[in-house]
Amino acid sequence: MRRFLAAVLIAGMTNSFPAWAADLYQVSILDALMQGVYDGQVTLGQLAREGDLGLGTTNGLDGELVVIDGSFYRVSVDGSVIPLPPETRTPFAMVTRFVPTVTATVPSGLDLAGLDAWLAQQLPPANHIQAVRIDGRFARLKLRSVPRQTPPYPPLTTALTQQAVFEAQDLDGTLVGFRFPAYAQGINASGTHFHFLNTDRTQGGHVLALVTGAPAQAGLTQINRVVVDLPDDAAFAAAAPRTATPAPLPRT
Ligand code: ZN
Repeated sequence: MRRFLAAVLIAGMTNSFPAWAADLYQVSILDALMQGVYDGQVTLGQLAREGDLGLGTTNGLDGELVVIDGSFYRVSVDGSVIPLPPETRTPFAMVTRFVPTVTATVPSGLDLAGLDAWLAQQLPPANHIQAVRIDGRFARLKLRSVPRQTPPYPPLTTALTQQAVFEAQDLDGTLVGFRFPAYAQGINASGTHFHFLNTDRTQGGHVLALVTGAPAQAGLTQINRVVVDLPDDAAFAAAAPRTATPAPLPRT
C-alpha cells in the first residue's frame, strides 16, 4: 500500500493544525470502485486506527459498511446487520476521528435535499469536505444494500441493478455521512453521502431517501486534511481514468 497525501487543505497554513482540524482517511477512489475494483488490502483494523466514524463497503462489494464509535458493521443485501471483525478488508471506505465543531437540533420533516440545505446553513461548506453525524429519530428512511459480487467484477452501475431496497418509518438511529465539494468528484462522490444504522443495530444501509423526525441532533465538522490510500495492485493499475484527456494546467 502506497500512501499519498492526495490533498492538503490547511486552514491558515499555520505551523500546527488548529485544534478542530479533522482528517479524512480514505481507501482507494470512487472511480476505481465504479469500474469494479472491489478487492482491497486495507483491513478494518487498520481503518480503526485512522478514524471512528465513516462508511464504505467490504471486499467483493459485500454490502454497506457503517462505522460508528469505532465499531464496524455490514448491512448485507438481505437487510441483516453484523459486526465485522478487524481482519475484514475494504476496497473503498472513508473514516474520520469525529469531533463535531457545530451541533444543532435537526428540524423534522426535511427530505435529503432539505437536510443538505439545512446542514449547509449550520456549517457553510467553504470548499471543504465535511463530516456529519445525526443521532435521533427519522420519520422515513429508504435504504439500500448490494449483493456480494464474484469475479470478473462488473462495474458499479451494473452491480447496483441488483440492490435491495428497504423502507422504514420512525426509526431511531445514527446517520453517518460526508459532504464533498464538486472538485472531489472521481476521488469521491460530490454531494452528500449517508449511511444509516438504527439504535438496535438491526437495520441500516446506504441512504437513498429520508425524512427527518424528532428529536434528532446533528454534529458537523470541517475536514482540512485528506489522506487517500491508493491500491498498489493490478486491478487498480488497470482501471481507466475518468478523463481520457485531462485539461492541462494553464500557463501564464
Ligand atoms: Zn454508500
